[in-house]
Amino acid sequence: MQHFPDARSVVRALRPDEPIILNRPHAAARAARFFVEKFPGKSLYAVKANPSPDLVQILWDNGITHYDVASIAEVRMVRSVLPGAVLCFMHPVKAPSAIREAYHQHGVRTFSLDSVEELEKIVEATRGEDGEAAQDLRLCVRLRVSSEYSELSLASKFGCDLTEAPQLLQQTRQHADWLGVCFHVGSQAMTPFAYVQALERVRAAIAEASVVIDMIDVGGGFPSVYPGMEPPPLEDFFTIIHRQFEALPIAYNAELWCEPGRALCAEYSSLIVKVEKRRGEELYINDGAYGALFDAAHVDWKFPVRALEDDLIKPEMDFSFYGPTCDDADYMQGPFPLPEDIQAGDYFEIGMLGAYGAAMKTDFNGFGAAERIIVTDEPMASLYDGSRTRPEADNVVSLR
Ligand SMILES: *Cc1c(COP(=O)(O)O)cnc(C)c1O
Repeated sequence: MQHFPDARSVVRALRPDEPIILNRPHAAARAARFFVEKFPGKSLYAVKANPSPDLVQILWDNGITHYDVASIAEVRMVRSVLPGAVLCFMHPVKAPSAIREAYHQHGVRTFSLDSVEELEKIVEATRGEDGEAAQDLRLCVRLRVSSEYSELSLASKFGCDLTEAPQLLQQTRQHADWLGVCFHVGSQAMTPFAYVQALERVRAAIAEASVVIDMIDVGGGFPSVYPGMEPPPLEDFFTIIHRQFEALPIAYNAELWCEPGRALCAEYSSLIVKVEKRRGEELYINDGAYGALFDAAHVDWKFPVRALEDDLIKPEMDFSFYGPTCDDADYMQGPFPLPEDIQAGDYFEIGMLGAYGAAMKTDFNGFGAAERIIVTDEPMASLYDGSRTRPEADNVVSLR
């Protein structure tokens, strides 16, 4: 991969006709070290946020030893890059063949589930050739919790209800060498209180089940920073989670885990795009809803933008974007502030695309190409560079 100091120098040297993904290994390394040093337990990387082998290697080099994988393709990818990593298959609905391959060929022992059908599937798929049940399963029951404090809900698809949880915990205990409870509060949780309400629900479930619990996994949801979404410091999340964890009725040596995706990789990547056409306040650009800007189009996510041309001198005004495909839905409302005099042929940079950005690119309509270049400047915003020691409010609740 080529190296440049920053986006401007890339544009000056290449004037690229296709979008370019800029990666910042130092930013991902810093995020990994932050979680390794400050989270009061083990931090898994949720691979789906950005399944790049380069990124996975950077996280490993900076202390992330456990990986939350959700498909057999993710299992294979992480195993091929990191032979020593611990892989945890945390998708609660899996194909039997995926469980079988993960367990027998890739050493996966940790699986999540949210129903008795899935428990039976795991028990069957992990039997030995002699038909003996596996004795070393580490199983996590996924509980449904509220997403009300998060920008993106994950409350409806997975997780068992509080009414079903005690029985499922008891049934799972009979097959598990080690039993955990996991949940996901939704992505981009804007206040630590999201985890308080979830852990209250965990407490209720395990009190009623009265089984020994070896691990609590508070999932992902840790925020990054975007325009209009300035979360409190992650240290506040960690302190509150630890306090709630310590008060749970669990084994004295129970472990605390988390599974950040976004928070570990949002700062890793940004994107250089070119303006192909301007129509008033609308810019037609060469990446979009089917590229790295899925969330900008589909859930109106606001990503930071900055112009890359030296001759743009006017003040900023708000723009919306059209992506390159022929689909009307390839539209990003924004608003995205850029200089008033920006025009066709100009370049700008879109930041904070390391999570659920670069990973989402498709080839739809022939527009999937994007070179990757390493840059060494700072991401457009950071939770880890010491610049945001204490934002104004401690409990910023999401602006919906
Ligand atoms: C997506 C996902 C994560 C990561 O979520 P973020 O909001 O990106 O931190 C963690 N765990 C599971 C089970 C997930 O599906």
